Amino acid sequence: MSESALGIVWIYPDLLSTYGDRGNMLVLAHRAERRGIAVEPMLVRSDEPLPATADIYLVGGGEDGPQALAAQRLTADGNLLRAVNQGAAVLAVCAGYQLLGTSFHAKGAQCPGLDLLDVTSDRTGTRVVGELSGDVDPRLGLPPLTGFENHGGRTRLGPGVAPLALVTAGFGNDGHTEGAWRGKILGSYAHGPVLARNPAIADLLLRWATGADSLAPLDDTWSDKLRAERLAAAGAA
Ligand code: GLN
Repeated sequence: MSESALGIVWIYPDLLSTYGDRGNMLVLAHRAERRGIAVEPMLVRSDEPLPATADIYLVGGGEDGPQALAAQRLTADGNLLRAVNQGAAVLAVCAGYQLLGTSFHAKGAQCPGLDLLDVTSDRTGTRVVGELSGDVDPRLGLPPLTGFENHGGRTRLGPGVAPLALVTAGFGNDGHTEGAWRGKILGSYAHGPVLARNPAIADLLLRWATGADSLAPLDDTWSDKLRAERLAAAGAA
């Protein structure tokens, strides 16, 4: 891995890549490069070791079987935990979010998660599918969240995390809160990909990873239009 470039890892494209979540990596790399920040994007398959010294780790959604396998392999690998302890930023979506928690439900059983977020996911009620939006924790300084959700899991937050957002449309964790965060770890139910719909979250990750207080503004005319259209469709604008 290059010393000077920002290392961005897409975790297990062979298991966790539903709904084009891998687009999160493209958006991050693009927004970094347009500011002259060199990036080294890496796709790490589930039969390969994760690098322990990258700057940003991205985890996507998946079906129950691949999700359970990904959790086992990430636990056995150990490098995501090492990277977080060294200050890496993480964005995890849906199955990826659930498996960062204490435990999650898959294939009729509770499976141990990575314990990086104080959340527990189980399976009650029906699958929720549709537009998701919410007002993001003001401490993160972000505009409203917009995304698409499709999950059977319900997530309870413990005292070690804060909700990423309060739901204005859709379901999120429990119909009231959506996602969770602590330190530089963000978990969300929002697909979209979420960084294409919410470029301000991409910029937050880039600021965390580079230590920059601010980044040069980019022309976001297109994504602003997409956001306005999707938030209106969700009845949240
Ligand atoms: N398998 C998980 C659930 O249904 C996550 C689904 C997803 O990642 N879209 O809750």
